[in-house]
Amino acid sequence: MEVTNDNNCSWVKDLIPRINIKTLQSNEDCEWLIIGAGYTGLSAARKLGHLYPEQKIILVDAQLAGEGASSRNSGYLVDTTLNDGFTSNKELDNYKKKAYIYYLGINSVKKFINEYQADCDWNECGKYFASSKKKDEKILKKFSDTLTKLGFEHNLLSNNQLSKRLGTNFYNIALHTKGGVLLHPGKLVRAMIDVLPKNVCLYENSSLLNWNKTKDIISCQFKNGKIKTKKVIFATNGFLKSLGIKSNYNFPITLTASMTRPLTDDEFKSIGQPNEWGVLPVRPMGATIRMTKDKRILIRNTAEVHNPFKMKKIDLEKRSINQRIGIKKRFPQLPEDLIQSSWSGVVSRTRNSSQIFEKIDNNIFAAGSYNGSGIGVGTLFGEQIAIKASEQNTKEIETIEARNKPNWLPPQPFLNFGIKTRLIYERIRAKSEL
Ligand SMILES: Cc1cc2nc3c(=O)[nH]c(=O)nc-3n(C[C@H](O)[C@H](O)[C@H](O)COP(=O)(O)OP(=O)(O)OC[C@H]3O[C@@H](n4cnc5c(N)ncnc54)[C@H](O)[C@@H]3O)c2cc1C
Repeated sequence: MEVTNDNNCSWVKDLIPRINIKTLQSNEDCEWLIIGAGYTGLSAARKLGHLYPEQKIILVDAQLAGEGASSRNSGYLVDTTLNDGFTSNKELDNYKKKAYIYYLGINSVKKFINEYQADCDWNECGKYFASSKKKDEKILKKFSDTLTKLGFEHNLLSNNQLSKRLGTNFYNIALHTKGGVLLHPGKLVRAMIDVLPKNVCLYENSSLLNWNKTKDIISCQFKNGKIKTKKVIFATNGFLKSLGIKSNYNFPITLTASMTRPLTDDEFKSIGQPNEWGVLPVRPMGATIRMTKDKRILIRNTAEVHNPFKMKKIDLEKRSINQRIGIKKRFPQLPEDLIQSSWSGVVSRTRNSSQIFEKIDNNIFAAGSYNGSGIGVGTLFGEQIAIKASEQNTKEIETIEARNKPNWLPPQPFLNFGIKTRLIYERIRAKSEL
């Protein structure tokens, strides 16, 4: 199966189309092969390119580089999460370890944008965990206790304060965390493509069909060619399972999102001209909603088990209608037909919200499964898996390896049945928050 995306993502459309796209058309040999050119694969390639300027490094993607989930996300570079999976981690010590990994992730992205002067609309405005239900105050107070114990600056806000800051009366209670960044995900990943070292050869629209290892050589079969390599890094995130990587530990989930056109000055005035903001839901399946710095509204309110390789136009349209309703609920004064584009993207999840960072066999490495928080962690894991594959060690690797490992998942059909049931349950619980 080949990955086929819709061409509708606003973040991608904001960018100038790239030229000089190379597709794999022959057989090649290399020292290093990286499969998947999102934040993880690009960061691994960048790191290897600097570590081994004389060696041949090939980076391959099934579609245009960066145009998978890395361009299709909501752009929250998080320092903390409330709903990081449907088996959220409640113990303080584990939460602390996870938050420290987020911290390292933010630092990796920060370092990248400072080093390369990358413009990605970086805004350290924090984020809101918000709900229309007053009774969710209980959840937020508990979360506030955790954040206080760990020293994260935050405050609880009520309806009045929220309507001034967000321009909507919809939310009754929220917790604002000072940490966390909002950014333009497409610009960030494009910057990573633009600065790939010279010895990294990028092939796009070249899907890996199958692979095997004989003695110390790994052979990867693509549609129009084969690559033989000494070492390989799998960075395909939502598609790790389809390539047989850690299959019993991760599964793909498809998310859909929509973005409006920029609001006119009058429309923006009618909602009180708020500064840029980002809201995450208190109930796991509620809507993520964001006001961008150029006055567009982004909404994501679906997460489902779906064919990860393709979403049909008609299915996307159905989801877009729900997103239009979600925007209308929050901003009744705005026109109905604001949505300019809707798109789908695939993420990888694990049972206990822990990520994959591993040597899975001699010379074979994998990083991914960020459970919806992959901007920072993907950048960090990409760099660090390259270092691990080079048989070197860092403090970051030690921290990552001290995290909880992903839990084993039951086989099909039990797995899909379990996930679907859980998603339906969470969706019902979050009905008012969609
Ligand atoms: C709608 C949506 C909203 C999100 N919101 C956020 C957010 O606000 N904050 C956040 O931190 N994260 C968010 N995420 C998650 C985030 O986008 C991912 O965690 C991140 O993109 C992972 O990066 P990656 O490089 O590991 O994977 P990807 O970006 O998915 O890249 C993997 C690449 O592998 C390629 N590939 C797959 N199979 C093959 C194959 N067989 N051969 C060759 N190449 C292959 C794909 O084409 C793809 O380009 C969101 C995701 C979505 C979809």
